[in-house]
Amino acid sequence: MVQNVEKNSFIALENLGKSYLQPNGQTISIIENINCQLQVGEIIALLGPSGSGKSTLMRMIAGLIPPSSGKVLYYNRQLMGLNPGVAIVFQNFALYPWLTVLENVELGLKAKGEAKDTRIQKALRMIDVIGLDGFENAYPKELSGGMRQRVGFARALAVEPELLCMDEPFSALDVLTAENLRFELLDLWLEKRIPTKSILIVTHGIEEAVTLADRVIVLGRNPGRIRADLPIKLPHYRDRKSPEFQALVDQVYKILTNPDLPDSSSQAATTTSTPKPPASQKYQSLPHVRIGSVAGLLELLEGRQEKDLYRLAQELLLEVDDLLPIVEASKLMDLVAITEGDIQLAQRGEKFINSNIDERKAIIRESLQQHIRLVQQICQLLQAKRNHRISEELVLDILENYFTSKEAQRQLRTAMDWGRYAELYSYDEPSGEIFIEESVTESEESE
Ligand code: ADP
Repeated sequence: MVQNVEKNSFIALENLGKSYLQPNGQTISIIENINCQLQVGEIIALLGPSGSGKSTLMRMIAGLIPPSSGKVLYYNRQLMGLNPGVAIVFQNFALYPWLTVLENVELGLKAKGEAKDTRIQKALRMIDVIGLDGFENAYPKELSGGMRQRVGFARALAVEPELLCMDEPFSALDVLTAENLRFELLDLWLEKRIPTKSILIVTHGIEEAVTLADRVIVLGRNPGRIRADLPIKLPHYRDRKSPEFQALVDQVYKILTNPDLPDSSSQAATTTSTPKPPASQKYQSLPHVRIGSVAGLLELLEGRQEKDLYRLAQELLLEVDDLLPIVEASKLMDLVAITEGDIQLAQRGEKFINSNIDERKAIIRESLQQHIRLVQQICQLLQAKRNHRISEELVLDILENYFTSKEAQRQLRTAMDWGRYAELYSYDEPSGEIFIEESVTESEESE
């Protein structure tokens, strides 16, 4: 491949980390200890589940946000402020609706202080390259999603960035438009028609990563860190049905579904300030899925030959981001077993699908009590109170030692959903009170 002839690093990340101070004074670590180099001539895909810090990492490389630890080196010099070699294409296009296509594309050049003549000349050239010819004077609202994203590409490329960063650039587009734009971009890159040395694409799509990238960096959560850095040596254009392609996708699937942490369920961010839980202590993080989805997965697995997660996702037309949380939740509850990217019903899962609704509730109840720390903690707190009522604030206070406020809220909502299904407790939304129904407490107390 032509672009890969010359390989040298121009951006390096050294022990890079990012943390945020929470309103309660805790510091939540989002990304930790990232070390890698970006080479000239590569398309790099940054792949990982939502919340693994992909956008955060990209923004630090672009200099939009400063690191909390470590550094970004640009030609061996520590980056301070915006990275002059980077331009970004955003998922939601980020166009100014009151500016025409030409004016939007000119923006980056204007910010760089280019004179009006050269600005217009460069913008028009890029508009032409990117297939927007004839739309120079149109406003974003007159354009389709695909055309708007072309404006996003043209604006980023007009400044001739050394590194083109793209944050899920195709995910707001319909499937066909996305596919078309993906290949057009690849054409431009392979034919060296765009003035960029490397491309960094943030994605949660495994196939997208393996289709486009020369190298896939897989990020894991808890906190964000590099789990794998895989070279993709297949020549372009890649045949998605070829055994080599499928094997690579499979390999990435295995990495994503086999967390290398001792506690495989744990995805929570760690805390680094006082009062500080022991360093080794990470709070189990709940994937945000409903029990109904878990039940749906278990039923699908019954009597099924296909155990491979990737092929299962393909069959169900599910993206990895949709399937993985359901798989994770089922695994946490000990309803499925996963080995090397293959999934199968565990004994408890078998029992679940052969049970009636009340028995199913009892199975989930037992499972939550055995395996789900947040549910265990809520139950303990409820038991400790005479009236068996607690305020959700109490639970949120505990969770905010480990999660951002927003994530703490989501964790609580998931625990409410699961616990209510299992009839362990109830939740009064307006007052934010969690309580045990009297009939439950009475029967327990009389035992
Ligand atoms: P991804 O792109 O992989 O989905 P992000 O980089 O967007 O992940 O976010 C990683 C984590 O950092 C998320 O849990 C998110 O809530 C948190 N986060 C991102 N920005 C901030 C911020 N400004 N303050 C607090 N937490 C943040």
